Amino acid sequence: MNKTPKFDKALAEYFSKLELDEKGGQTRICKLSGKEFYVRAEDIGFYKKIGVPLPTLSPTERWRKLLAYQNTQSLFKVQSAYSGKSIIATYQPETPFKIYEHQIWFSDKWDPLEFGRNWDDKKDFITQFIGLRKDVPRPNLVTNTTNVNSDYTNASTHLKNCYLTFNTMNGENLYYFDCCDGSKDCVTCEGLFNCDSCYACQYLWDSYRCFFCEHSRNCLDSYFLYDCRNCQNCFMSSNLRNKKYYFRNQQLSKDEYEERMKEVNLGDYGELKKYREEFEKLKKDAFHKPDHNFRAVNSVGDYIENSKDCYWSAFIDDCQNNSYILGCLKYKDCHDLVGGAGGELCYEFITISTANNYNVRLSSQIDNSRNIEYSDLCRNCHDIFGCVGLDNKSFCILNKQYGEQEYWETLDKIKSAMLADGAYGEFFSPGLMPVPYRATFAATYDGFRDYENAGRYGYDVAELPVQKSETQGDIVNADTLPPDIKDIGDDILQKIIFDKEHDKYFRLTPYELSFHRRYNLALPREHPLITLQNFRDIYDIRLTFYNRNCKKCGVSIESTYNPERYKNVYCKECYESEVA
Ligand SMILES: [Zn+2]
Repeated sequence: MNKTPKFDKALAEYFSKLELDEKGGQTRICKLSGKEFYVRAEDIGFYKKIGVPLPTLSPTERWRKLLAYQNTQSLFKVQSAYSGKSIIATYQPETPFKIYEHQIWFSDKWDPLEFGRNWDDKKDFITQFIGLRKDVPRPNLVTNTTNVNSDYTNASTHLKNCYLTFNTMNGENLYYFDCCDGSKDCVTCEGLFNCDSCYACQYLWDSYRCFFCEHSRNCLDSYFLYDCRNCQNCFMSSNLRNKKYYFRNQQLSKDEYEERMKEVNLGDYGELKKYREEFEKLKKDAFHKPDHNFRAVNSVGDYIENSKDCYWSAFIDDCQNNSYILGCLKYKDCHDLVGGAGGELCYEFITISTANNYNVRLSSQIDNSRNIEYSDLCRNCHDIFGCVGLDNKSFCILNKQYGEQEYWETLDKIKSAMLADGAYGEFFSPGLMPVPYRATFAATYDGFRDYENAGRYGYDVAELPVQKSETQGDIVNADTLPPDIKDIGDDILQKIIFDKEHDKYFRLTPYELSFHRRYNLALPREHPLITLQNFRDIYDIRLTFYNRNCKKCGVSIESTYNPERYKNVYCKECYESEVA
């Protein structure tokens, strides 16, 4: 059945008039950056299939816009518009939105349909949507009700006893965590999957008791490993496979290794600092393959895991036939996504820790829904347009309930008018983000901290308010702490530690102190959120590909490693022969 005949006819006309090059694609100029970008024939096939016109922004600027819709790591104190209590939130105190505790927000204690309104055909639709969005309450955090004793977390679900944990699913006893899944009893890590009892690790899979390890898999009882797999009791080594008792990339006997390890005291801050500096050099000198992909078939991008036929995508796992997607799990046949754990035929959509979405587009934070457009914070819905905060609804426009027939007739008029105005087919413009740019996902990535450009494109790049700490207690300068963890008493838990370099204050929790003591690890001197930010700084989210030559055989390769930072990049074949 042709449900929106007028719109479909107008769109078919649009496509029939498109001027395409000999490859069936089109070169366009990005409306924001002014840079040229290419729309491939297969992209155009996708736009035709789902019924949207071609994008006016480059893939990079499309990502920026999706990333700029969500705040993940900047937490503020606001007053709940429901209870009047002071609550933490991803919105700043001056936010124009009504913020509810997420437990209330997800309950039936309020009715989003009460905010429903008629569509006014004399006014622009997006302006009417923004009016609705301003009136409907929003949850304080991006989450659902699955977290237990984990209030100071965001963009995370299924957590228990976690603290300052972000973009993480399924975890227990995690402190200062970002972008992880299925891990427990770890402190200060980024990108961990199925790990246990780890500290200061980044990009690690299926590992146990690993400390300061990066880009490694299936490792155990090891320190300072880079690009290692299936290793046990190794220290300060890189590019190892199936090894035991390696110390500085040298094979030792079990007894020799244990003797050497007796001389290592990572509980001493000064000594740990030297090892960390040594590790930085080791990482640079290690062999690298052209990208960080793993089991990626016929795919272009970086940090692609167990995926097939994905183009210009990064940080994805178990995905198939997608283009321009970032930080996604289990998606199929989608374009332009950020986040989420499963869906099909979605487009221009940012969502965190949600799943089972079908044909959701031009929307934010939608869960378990299908056929959704221009909507925000909806779940268990189908066939809704321009709605906010709905649960288990269908055939609604601007939070107003329609009969099915009337819904399609009205939708046909709205979409036809939007298409004629050039307003249909793209995610909300930079001036319509619900949170200030510097507090968003986008600003956590080095490539999008070009605030001058962002401001010119229309994002709100004003400085964030500095909130005064409410914590009381003696302040101790981090530099004056006793160097060895053995000399730190329980009284540290009552003190506020001042990170002078970053002008930030933090406290230690009892869990962390016992963790550091258990594994003999010196206490940090740096605010943990600074450490999390530093983890992210290595990622070039704009997906820059450098044309360079294999260090060994000289063959020309496309690599995501910046030649200025990394010298030892090998082609796939040479890399495999070196690390085997
Ligand atoms: Zn080579």
